[in-house]
Amino acid sequence: MQSTITMSALTQQYLELEEKYGAHNYHPLPVVLNRGEGVFVWDVDGKRYYDFLSGYSAVNQGHCHPKIVKAFIEQAQQLTLTSRAFHSDQLGTYTKYITNYFGYDKVLPMNTGVEAVETAIKLCRKWAYEVKGIEEGKAAIIVCEGNFHGRTTSVISFSSDPSARKNFGPYMPGFTAIPYNDAAALAKALENKNVAGFLVEPIQGEAGVLVPDDGYLAKAKSLCEAANVLFIGDEIQTGLARTGKMLACDHENVRPDILILGKALSGGMMPVSAVLCDDEIMMTIKPGEHGSTYGGNPLACKVAITALEVLKDEKMAAHAETMGELLRSELRALNSKHIALVRGKGLLNAIVIDHTDKEAAWDLCLQLKENGLLAKPTHGDKIRFAPPLVITKEQVLECVEIIHKSLAVLD
Ligand code: PLP
Repeated sequence: MQSTITMSALTQQYLELEEKYGAHNYHPLPVVLNRGEGVFVWDVDGKRYYDFLSGYSAVNQGHCHPKIVKAFIEQAQQLTLTSRAFHSDQLGTYTKYITNYFGYDKVLPMNTGVEAVETAIKLCRKWAYEVKGIEEGKAAIIVCEGNFHGRTTSVISFSSDPSARKNFGPYMPGFTAIPYNDAAALAKALENKNVAGFLVEPIQGEAGVLVPDDGYLAKAKSLCEAANVLFIGDEIQTGLARTGKMLACDHENVRPDILILGKALSGGMMPVSAVLCDDEIMMTIKPGEHGSTYGGNPLACKVAITALEVLKDEKMAAHAETMGELLRSELRALNSKHIALVRGKGLLNAIVIDHTDKEAAWDLCLQLKENGLLAKPTHGDKIRFAPPLVITKEQVLECVEIIHKSLAVLD
């Protein structure tokens, strides 16, 4: 069965505008949204959908959370940008708040996720030369195959996805890739005395929500400690209550030496990212050596404090844990021949489609859209199910019913 897509003339108009005037660097589902609230988004024809992507986990707190919107508007009417040439009354307050919240000496504020990854790499290299004593230019950072850390030229240099790299070289040296979820491979790679850091996603989100074995992160952290190597946790997608704990590393009581946050740090309002670490690492960077015009702007600071408050006040981590268990068990109970696997932690989940047609996951997403649920395939046969963390039990059950009904398209 083929999914039958309905598309209004209005939707068609917006799609044509993007097609004609926008770069073709994404392949979105044919739906045009103009409103969001909580777990829902609406298209330009007024049709309502469950959002099962949450802006790639940027909207953990739910679309247009009223407290975050209020903070945004109030601060936008007061002061939005000073640049870091001057101080603002919001930055100091924010730095104290977020460092206490996560238990680090200092924070370096940036905007997008990949900028925070770049910042972490720079901090790691500086620390390598100025504290660890590696010969200048020799520092190596270990990364994992299948990683996704963003799209800059440095970061794609250590991607294993050919479409991220092809014809974007020459590539940045200094990175060594090892298999994910393989502590023995890490131990071997750490034999190189020039290794300064290990950059890892606690769950590989873009790769299709690959959850490593229990104990992997704790083992990796202890191997890094023994080798005097920084454990750099990229929690841009997994952090901020998404997986049922404030950080995914918390599941194994691992404290990254460098913690990278982004996405839901603003609850979907604007790009806000952060790098947290202790003084031994952070103080290696001196005035003029790193920065960003918008990094740490007063609007971002105010929004981030509120976004973090909302996560705690509304106990979103515990709720994500319970709702995630419900979602996975209900999906497994469907016993669908088209679902090879259901996996995830908290509300970061994916199904792996079992089908001979390589377009099956895309077709299913089109049918889900028809039936009122938005999700997007990743790497061909995987579909991420990551709704905003405010989803209720009744809503989870309704969504599983939508998924059940939609799976018929693959019969
Ligand atoms: N790191 C991880 C783990 C991510 O999932 C992403 C985005 O999906 C990034 C980094 C890059 O973040 P941004 O798109 O905000 O640059």
